[in-house]
Amino acid sequence: VTESVDVLIVGSGPVGCAFARVLSETRPELRVLMVEAGPRVTEPPGVHMKNIRDDRERLVAQVRSQGPGFSAEAVEATAARTRQVPDGRFARPGTFYVDPEAAAEQRPNTLPVAALSSNVGGMGLHWTCACPAPAGDELVSYVDGAEWQAGLADAQRVLSVTPDAFPVTIEGRAVLDALGAEFDGELPEGRRVQAMPLACRVKPDGTRHWAGADVILGELLTSPAPAFELRAETLCCAVLVEGGQVTGARLRDLSAEATYTVAANAVFAACDGLRTAQLLFASGVRPRALGRYLNDHIQLIGPAAIDTRHIARAAAREALPARREHDLDPLVGVFWIPYSDGHPVHGQVMHLDMSPVTIGPRAEALAGRIVDVAYFIPKEPRPGDRVRFSPTELDVYGMPKMQISHALSERDHAGIATAAALQARAIAALGSAVPGYPSRVLPAGSSLHYQGAVRMGQTDDGTSVCDVYGRVWGVRGLAVGGNGVIPTATGSNPTLTSVAHAVRAARRLAAQLP
Ligand SMILES: Cc1cc2nc3c(=O)[nH]c(=O)nc-3n(C[C@H](O)[C@H](O)[C@H](O)COP(=O)(O)OP(=O)(O)OC[C@H]3O[C@@H](n4cnc5c(N)ncnc54)[C@H](O)[C@@H]3O)c2cc1C
Repeated sequence: VTESVDVLIVGSGPVGCAFARVLSETRPELRVLMVEAGPRVTEPPGVHMKNIRDDRERLVAQVRSQGPGFSAEAVEATAARTRQVPDGRFARPGTFYVDPEAAAEQRPNTLPVAALSSNVGGMGLHWTCACPAPAGDELVSYVDGAEWQAGLADAQRVLSVTPDAFPVTIEGRAVLDALGAEFDGELPEGRRVQAMPLACRVKPDGTRHWAGADVILGELLTSPAPAFELRAETLCCAVLVEGGQVTGARLRDLSAEATYTVAANAVFAACDGLRTAQLLFASGVRPRALGRYLNDHIQLIGPAAIDTRHIARAAAREALPARREHDLDPLVGVFWIPYSDGHPVHGQVMHLDMSPVTIGPRAEALAGRIVDVAYFIPKEPRPGDRVRFSPTELDVYGMPKMQISHALSERDHAGIATAAALQARAIAALGSAVPGYPSRVLPAGSSLHYQGAVRMGQTDDGTSVCDVYGRVWGVRGLAVGGNGVIPTATGSNPTLTSVAHAVRAARRLAAQLP
């Protein structure tokens, strides 16, 4: 053992960073080491890609996030496909496929386009920053309501979530009015059509700073606390457990190919929706539910051209700025048709500049009036939908190779039909569909919201991996976080929820550690 810390955090995405922030705010004297397999891709570390003004600099940072094997060719290939519809040939910039062959073949009964990011800040440097609060059936019934609300408020604080990231533009007003007239009458109070809350700070000059690890870690980065260290290019190969108690972890310095051991009183694994389960497997921690109940939002997209009459009416109603895109700080918008029990899908309507998926050059000819009307549909959590880990074969990092089984149930197909009907109404209310660009369900794995693989539960009955504070059943000192802990079928983008669970876990650990 070469060193000893109080808490080891594995993974530097939004979940690991939020855990570190709240733990350090609560117990600043604790020695906290955060390890991250990927490299630092920005300076200062953890800056969201949308804050990088230089196209080439951003592109290089994206490609360095795409796993091992950075090369000039990879930069050129990524340049050629910026804003590509995830159709199997290429992962989105900043991400890499779990199984490139499954993606190329569009293999059925798996998540063919499941993708990950490996960099300081994780996917949280590449995300759209949509932070809708979950509601109704999405919530975990056995988490105390007041404690959940406090966790959610904490999560919104550390992610700097605001509904006012963009001023409402003329086109934005047209979208809000048209969708509100169509849906508000059937949506509950507080869950009506509105601007999407986004993890974003509006700077004094009115431009935006999108939340990456820099924002979430906050002062931990700016005034380096001697008690906190973020170590990049450091893979956690295994958590070490003796007699049911965590003792530390085996780490590998990927730049020097050296392996060493760190002693720790507690480990928080926040390695994303798939690799947290992978780390547990590699550590010999293999509860029955590990990797099971895996579910990814089913994603339905469909562009709409806004009727010019809506735009004219909005312009006549009040003095609003016009939308501005294709510049360094586009003035666009993201709009939200919230999930509720009577409307159990998540609607997200985005101007093209904000959408992580593009719809192609013909539609862009109608620029100014096109929005993507996207729906995330809950996927029924079932034990047979799962990620398995090979005891012999290894992935690009030398960790147990993953193999995913995932199929749609009858309930899932019904959900798609519900969303398609709502989407058709939304498109008609906004104006019209875009000829040549029909509505379509994206290949499975596209939403990048892999939930359930380390799900929480009320008791250790074999259907969960951890308790409501992420504490892994039967292993003292080991907790998990990330989208994998979400046990319910959800429609809302999961990061806010996962961060809320992580800050609850951090507060619980802070209260427990000596
Ligand atoms: C294009 C795009 C758009 C998105 N839009 C949204 C959105 O609008 N709203 C939303 O809620 N979500 C969105 N997401 C998803 C969101 O980014 C993730 O939910 C979020 O980043 C998950 O946070 P995390 O910390 O759990 O994992 P990650 O951000 O994935 O970070 C995990 C980190 O752990 C590291 N790691 C893994 N294994 C190990 C190991 N063994 N040792 C050391 N390090 C390890 C990885 O390298 C990675 O950097 C989007 C994602 C993308 C790519």
